[in-house]
Formats: sequence, C-alpha cells, structure tokens
Amino acid sequence: MRPRRTAALAAVTVLTLAVGTSAGTGRLPAPATAGPIGTARSALAPCAVQGAVDVQMTEGIPTPHGYARSTGTLHALTLMVDFSDAPGQGSAMDRFHEFFPQTQEWFRTASYGRLDYRPETPITTWLRMPKPFKGYGIERGAPFDPGYRQLVQDIVAAADPKVDFRAYDIVNVLVTPNAGPSALDTVLSVTFAGNGDAPVADGVTIANASFVYSRQDDGSGSYSRTGYRVLPHENGHTFGLPDLYTQEGGGAVGHWDIMSEDWGADNDLLGWHKWKLGWLDGSQVGCAAARGSIEYVLTPLYRPGGGKLVLVPVDARSSYALEVREQGGNDEVVCRPGVLIYKVDGTIDTGRGPVTVYDSHRDSGGCTRSPNVQAELSDAPFSPGESFKDPRHGITVQVISRDGDGDYRVRVTRT
Ligand SMILES: [Zn+2]
Repeated sequence: MRPRRTAALAAVTVLTLAVGTSAGTGRLPAPATAGPIGTARSALAPCAVQGAVDVQMTEGIPTPHGYARSTGTLHALTLMVDFSDAPGQGSAMDRFHEFFPQTQEWFRTASYGRLDYRPETPITTWLRMPKPFKGYGIERGAPFDPGYRQLVQDIVAAADPKVDFRAYDIVNVLVTPNAGPSALDTVLSVTFAGNGDAPVADGVTIANASFVYSRQDDGSGSYSRTGYRVLPHENGHTFGLPDLYTQEGGGAVGHWDIMSEDWGADNDLLGWHKWKLGWLDGSQVGCAAARGSIEYVLTPLYRPGGGKLVLVPVDARSSYALEVREQGGNDEVVCRPGVLIYKVDGTIDTGRGPVTVYDSHRDSGGCTRSPNVQAELSDAPFSPGESFKDPRHGITVQVISRDGDGDYRVRVTRT
C-alpha cells in the first residue's frame, strides 16, 4: 500500500440532467478543462455518474473545476529540485530523462493523441532549496500545510527569475531521489490537485503540482523501462482522477488502471477514465439505461477508434462499465484478454475504492507472474460464453463472441 494524500477543491459542480433534448453524440469540441462536455444534453446523460458533494476527488462527471485540462496541449513546467542535505547526484537533466519522453508518450498513447503533453524545462540545472530537506518536515502522507506550502513558496521564489508561471498548466517537481526514504519503505510522491488555496506565482495559483521522490525501483531490473510510471499516475490527479488503490492495496482494480498500480509493467487507464478525460467521443460510448436487451460491439481499449465503453447505470451515482482489454499499447501484461466489468461509484472518495473490478475467476490466483502486478485480478476479464449478473437490479451482461480482430459482442439485458 502506498499512501498518498491529495488535496482538492471542496466545491463540486453538480451535473444537471436535461430531459427530452437532442440525442446527438457527434464529435465533441475539445473541452477547456478535464472531462467530456455536452454530456448533460446527450443520450449518455443517464450514464454520467454524478459525484457526491462531500467527496474530495470523485469519479463523477463532470470533473469539478480547478483541475488541469486533459485534452489539447498541456504545458508541464518540470523542475528538478535538490537540498543542501540531499544534493543532486548527476545532472538534473538525467533526472528529467528518467521520466521523459516516456511520460508524454504514455499520455499520447492513452489519449489516442488527444493530449499533447509538453514537458518544459526553462531551468536545466538542480534548483537548490534554501532549507535542508529535513527542514520541510515532509513525511509519509504529509498534508499540504505547512511543509509543502513552504516548499512550493521556496520553489516559486527560486524559479521565478527564469520562469513565467502563467505559461504552464501543471508543475512537476522531480525531487532528487536521495531526499527522504527509499520508495521501497515509503512512497512520498504526491500531487496537490485542484488546490485553489496553493501559493500564487506571477498571478496564477500553483493549483496542480506533482512531486516525485525516491525511485520506485524494486530491484527487478525493470526500473529503466517502467520507473517513470509514478509520474503519469501523479499527473492523473492533476486531471481530477482519484486513487483506485485502497488500504488493502490494489485488490479493488488490480493492474487495470495506472491510478490503481503504478509499479511494475505498463498499464493503461480504464475506459471510464478515458471518457471522463475527454479522450473518447460520445459515439464510442454506449449507455444501456432502458429495459430490454441490447447488443454492442467493443474493440480493444488500446486500439484507436471503434466502440470502447458500455455503461449500465445502477442509479444516478453509480454504474457498471464494460470494456475490452487485450495486450497492446500501454497494456503490456494482459494474460487473459476479454471484457472487463467494473462498477464506478461517484459517492466513494479517492483511496476508498471508487471503482471495483469484478473477477470472472474468483480465488484463482490469477494468470500473471509479472512483478508488482496484482495477480488475483489479472484473469478478471469475461470470455465468450461467460456472463455477469446483478439480480438485485435486474442486470445481466453476456459476452457473446470474439472475432478475429479481437472485437467482442456483448449483450446487456435489463428487466
Ligand atoms: Zn495517487
């Protein structure tokens, strides 16, 4: 379990559902902030899970204001920071290259090209902080105040002569890895997202900032390939995505989303997150809200184009979601391809299990031996001939067939 603390705006915009309006789901213009727009007026409205007001970071749609834009060009100010008691070893740009270009490529692939992530380094050397690392009192699960407030103020003061903070959407702080404990003991990496109370620089609030500390290196020899993955996870919070791991670790979602597991082999985001971030068109999402039987064709999530996500709402604040996961793109270790079925709940907060994956083979031990991949849920997807039932809500999902291209036919029945 890797505790992370995320500060977010308390204000939540409640989605108002429009009834009886146009069912048009054509191409949506790129929204200025995270999330699909126009949902309230589309046929997908009954499937747009609403967030609860008392939830800090919700899976609900739309994402509250204050987070970073998740489509178009994202300017990510990236600073490498060190301390007198933890001086940077090697060049600051070597530290930068532990995360780039992999992070921007990961986002390009995950977003089907809709997020153009530009890491920018107006300062290419270590930015020395005025206090020693231990002077900030940053420790496991540190909240924003007071150590982080001081650290962000010091970063702003040190960078300001060379940086116009108005030019950036998010800030990445790549701390020298020798500051603080080993990531094997405690992962300090953290994101303060949608934080309107953060320090101000050049007239803009540093509301979305990700901090990465010691290397997530398990000694398996894969660090150079997969160690960057903590950064897309942290940046996911700047777009308003909650943590999907819980006190019990990755048992709720396993390796099916980088917000659940960011160690080990590469993985993608859930289709729900891709829709929430504006990376899927409305035409790629099905909403099975009406009674009766309806069939959909789903194409593998990693592959651009085609149907990607079917939602089966349970109530206004929760929905089942179906998607096809096969090996490819960012999904590196799919040992049992098929239809992944999970529930999204807009009333459950970050780190408490807002998403739950249903395991088609419970207590099987899973099909992967890949290090740092939650094994039990690795064989969760449903295969042709298998079905998922929620008798209480009269919902049945049957996986009908898979064709040679890896496209699946699913049937949703509501009684
Ligand atoms: Zn996190």
